[in-house]
Amino acid sequence: MAVERTLCIIKPDAVEKKKAGAILAHLEEKGFNLVGIKRTHLPRTVAEGFYAVHKARPFFGELCEFMTRGPVVVAVLEKDNAVADYRTAMGATDPAKAEAGTIRKLYAASIGENAVHGSDSLDNAKIEIAYFFPASEVAPVA
Ligand code: ADP
Ligand code: MG
Repeated sequence: MAVERTLCIIKPDAVEKKKAGAILAHLEEKGFNLVGIKRTHLPRTVAEGFYAVHKARPFFGELCEFMTRGPVVVAVLEKDNAVADYRTAMGATDPAKAEAGTIRKLYAASIGENAVHGSDSLDNAKIEIAYFFPASEVAPVA
């Protein structure tokens, strides 16, 4: 299996509940290395740009409102098969449908306020990492 990188955002709901540390610890326990990390409060334009693929969806406005209501923690996760393994660790978008022990089952309240973001493909992971991190802010690829 190849070493990959993927983008994690700990969303405002989880940061508000002071679960950012618990989520990062959970990910480290599962073997992810934190090769880039920062806390930021997203400007509306940055949230809209990040979620541009969902622009036509009925929840787009609500999603951008939520993502900008408080600070987030953005991290680059690295391990073998990181993209798929992090999606598994996150659990389903709707926490009611998420497997026991997943981050969303443990920490999410609803399909909208669902604690974490994760890239859905290796190509999107590269785009999303570059959206938040200049090369100087992530560890060089080994
Ligand atoms: P995921 O985050 O699991 O990749 P999507 O890419 O489909 O899910 O959706 C992006 C985000 O939009 C979700 O994580 C969630 O915050 C929000 N969202 C998705 N579906 C809904 C919905 N039906 N109602 C409200 N918010 C939603
Ligand atoms: Mg998605």
